[in-house]
Amino acid sequence: MPSQRLLIKNGTVAYSNNIQKMDIFILDDKISKMGRDLSEEADKIIDATDKLVLPGGVDSHCHIEQKSASGLINSDTFHSATSAAALGGNTTVIPFAAQYAGDSLIEVVNNYHGLANRGSIVDYSMHMIIAGPSDDVITRELPKLILEGHSSIKIFMTYDRLKIDDTNILKILNQARISGAMVSVHAENHEMITNKVKELIEGGFDSPKYHTDSHPVEGEVDAFRRIIKMSDETKQPVMIFHVSSEQGLKEIEAGKKRGVKFFAETCTQYLTLNSHLLDQEKINDGAKWICSPPIRSPSDSKALWIGLEDNTLDLVTSDHAPYSFDSNGKFFKGDNPNFKEIPNGMPGLQWRLPILLDKVINKNCDLDILDFVRITSTMPAKVYGLYPSKGEIKIGSDADITIWDTKLNITLSDNMVVDGSKYNPYSGMNICCWPNEVILRGNTIVKDNLIKSKPGSGKFLSTKLSEYI
Ligand SMILES: [Zn+2]
Repeated sequence: MPSQRLLIKNGTVAYSNNIQKMDIFILDDKISKMGRDLSEEADKIIDATDKLVLPGGVDSHCHIEQKSASGLINSDTFHSATSAAALGGNTTVIPFAAQYAGDSLIEVVNNYHGLANRGSIVDYSMHMIIAGPSDDVITRELPKLILEGHSSIKIFMTYDRLKIDDTNILKILNQARISGAMVSVHAENHEMITNKVKELIEGGFDSPKYHTDSHPVEGEVDAFRRIIKMSDETKQPVMIFHVSSEQGLKEIEAGKKRGVKFFAETCTQYLTLNSHLLDQEKINDGAKWICSPPIRSPSDSKALWIGLEDNTLDLVTSDHAPYSFDSNGKFFKGDNPNFKEIPNGMPGLQWRLPILLDKVINKNCDLDILDFVRITSTMPAKVYGLYPSKGEIKIGSDADITIWDTKLNITLSDNMVVDGSKYNPYSGMNICCWPNEVILRGNTIVKDNLIKSKPGSGKFLSTKLSEYI
């Protein structure tokens, strides 16, 4: 095959803790040369004058074609979800192969490979959700799968069909340490939630807005403390998913100050949306913003921004988990469900990067563009074993590049949605930036907000526990 040569000229490029005007020369699928006024002969030249040139986003927490805790499959396919991801500037995603009790983990992972392989237009690895931690799964299947390039495990401390008790959490953490895997955790105290749900529903407080009260902040605090202790005890690093509250953040801070080695993320919605959205005039409209943990108060959001600025939080993901706003999704239990009957989750793959970059450019936070790259691309790649091929613009890395327009005036709306939820939880928000072109391994996959690649063009990324963390 003839080699492919691409030259990106005059962009403002973020690379290795630096940002400056330069050219990037891409040979085949890799970044080959970087510098001022490169004169390499190329088959195609992209003029990136006045544009921001950043590594493609890595969204390390997104649910795609996955059966959820409520038994429903997310409202999209690998093709629609990764189209949303690409349009929003991402070149890599890490969704979930979800095991339920009784399933063979190997079979679950194989089936998931089939779905991803057919539909994905961006590159991917996967987290393996363990919900049935039998001895066979933990001591035979898990080590085999880790050895074969699946170095990420996800466990839940809540949800009836998914939760793992502490005995099994410790077994999984120990096996992960022996076999070399990262363990991500949905950490909330299950009993506190169950009690609160019962109390609210029996009291007649069952509309969407009460979902927030049903997940008390104390449940997050308690579970964070417990998982950090277990991480410390087993010397197995964990990633605490979706930190949503100021109090929870304090537990993260305290654990890190004690020297425990673990990581923590928050998501776009906890930074930018608040609980008043669940209280809508048309009561059921509040279902659009039901996710777990719930979006909370403006002071919680403010604390999370500070947590990102001082590195208490390591990265930001979307926790994309879309359900259509109809009887196939949010209302699958009927027209007037109580909050507990509404599937948890909202779409986010398409919105995470443009919304966060807008906040950075407009100085709504103390993060700069290099911080943005770190929390949305470099750190996710490092934590999950994808670095240095993913997560940074540097010589030898995969040519995964997003070229941004930054002087736009876009009002986010439902019309822009390409994932299967068909609604945009960020509708009405004004932002200044949007990807102009998205390049995956040297190939343009999005140009002028149009998809340019075929389903199945994304490839599986085999991972092992990162040496960079
Ligand atoms: Zn999630």
